[in-house]
Amino acid sequence: MPIHGVPVAGVSPYFTPVRTLRFDNRFRNELPGDPDQSTRRRQVHGALWSAVDPTPVADPRLLAHATEVAALLDLTGHDVQSPTFAQLFGGNALLPGMAPYAACYGGHQFGQWAGQLGDGRAISLGEVVNAAGERWELQLKGAGPTPYSRTADGRAVLRSSIREFLCSEAMHHLGVPTTRALSLVSTGDDVVRDMFYNGNAAAEPGAIVCRVAPSFIRFGNFELPAARDDLPLLAQLVDFTIARDFPELAGIADVSERRLAWFGTVCERTAHMIVHWMRVGFVHGVMNTDNMSILGLTIDYGPYGWLDHFDPTWTPNTTDASNRRYRFAQQPAIAQWNLLRLADAIAPLWDNTDELSHALERFSTVYMAEYEAMNGAKFGFLQCGEAELQLVREGYALLYQAEVDYTLFFRALGDIGETLPTEHPISVLGDVFYDEGKRDAGAEALNAWLARWHALVSTHDRSATARRAAMHAVNPRYILRNYLAQQAIDAATNGDTSLVHTLLHVMRRPYDEQPDYAHLATRRPEWARMKAGCSMLSCSS
Ligand code: AMP
Ligand code: MG
Repeated sequence: MPIHGVPVAGVSPYFTPVRTLRFDNRFRNELPGDPDQSTRRRQVHGALWSAVDPTPVADPRLLAHATEVAALLDLTGHDVQSPTFAQLFGGNALLPGMAPYAACYGGHQFGQWAGQLGDGRAISLGEVVNAAGERWELQLKGAGPTPYSRTADGRAVLRSSIREFLCSEAMHHLGVPTTRALSLVSTGDDVVRDMFYNGNAAAEPGAIVCRVAPSFIRFGNFELPAARDDLPLLAQLVDFTIARDFPELAGIADVSERRLAWFGTVCERTAHMIVHWMRVGFVHGVMNTDNMSILGLTIDYGPYGWLDHFDPTWTPNTTDASNRRYRFAQQPAIAQWNLLRLADAIAPLWDNTDELSHALERFSTVYMAEYEAMNGAKFGFLQCGEAELQLVREGYALLYQAEVDYTLFFRALGDIGETLPTEHPISVLGDVFYDEGKRDAGAEALNAWLARWHALVSTHDRSATARRAAMHAVNPRYILRNYLAQQAIDAATNGDTSLVHTLLHVMRRPYDEQPDYAHLATRRPEWARMKAGCSMLSCSS
């Protein structure tokens, strides 16, 4: 049993600030809950959450934490280093004020309505209100069974927990809206997984990430009451979400107008998030509607990946290999499809849905405008006319054909100064190619493109130095390359977490040159091209 009230014995003298965390659990306090307190798997009707405690683990140990996230919660280094911290964020203890629950939601998975899903292994501990008045919900991922665990165990393995921990923080520092990660705790318990669903189940070390966000509400939270025709519950959730998570809309007196403005805002935020994914070369991998945050945050890091060579058709998710529904270039269209599912769900709240259809257009309008501006910035243009857009389109086609590293290319482009060599301009790009044959086949076209790019960008009213600084501010030097995360996982599995810490450290300043870590900014080594975990991942986690 988790220990309620007072944390476990051996509390450090420095622990006091953790115990004074202020909780204000609005989701639980204001929305209807499930009367059944057991973890018996079941369909939950007429309620939006089920009370459930984390299941204690054998030997929780803190492997890593993000100091910036601890600071959001007003936690000091002493708090984090106290033995109680690992007990708390491994699910073995609760603080006064915590009120754990699993949320009830549904979702469309790979294009099909899947019915009730819910938090099968995520358990929210409570909503912290920090000294600045900000609300941060704490949620353990992998903390044991809930009523929504279906046939699964409620646990998470170390490899997927390291991936979620590191990527959450990397994305934040890259400027991409995302849930955050406070801690990575190993459990001391084994978890059995069939990594590629091929009959080779094996025991792996278990771990728990504590993720942190203002809200973990997903599109699927609205879809489930809608699918069950429970309109009062749906309306209650919509109005709660607006009141708690969209305070800027509180001033709209008319409830229908307020709900409409809210949906338009969700469309805008989603568009904004996807533009950032495209900018940094992130592929989510499982854009099911239960993995779409109502706040437009990147959520649920599973078989995600980062583009090494630019390939719009690429997905890291082997579970999606045949259709590649969630491939890189498809992400904006899928986000829009998901918003359509959300619109379908909430449509019964209006007599006439014309205005809802209108609000949905906010997605494409905002996406197109921001995507164009983002590309202008990536390519170093001050403004984008037809000539610039044409070069952008041609540039992407050439990167694909010549198999060029997406991240390294844009940094190299930004480094080009006042002049460009007339002979073989691509020599200035350096080691950005993955295939000599494709490089040679594409060289002539790329040389010509670079010359045209340089001529055009030089007509913009900005010095090469200013252009370089502006381009380097949007084109990262460091990304969490799949093979790097895998190397960190392999070492941590053998007890060495140093690469986890190094990657967390480097990804704090992804746009800066960090000469000591230049080896973490090179292209993917050839051995990693087809290696499990480096380019192929499944939903098994
Ligand atoms: P995901 O594909 O990770 O978004 O998960 C889809 C659904 O499966 C969600 O309802 C999860 O909570 C649930 N789920 C995934 N893994 C587990 C697990 N190990 N135990 C219980 N439920 C899980
Ligand atoms: Mg999920």
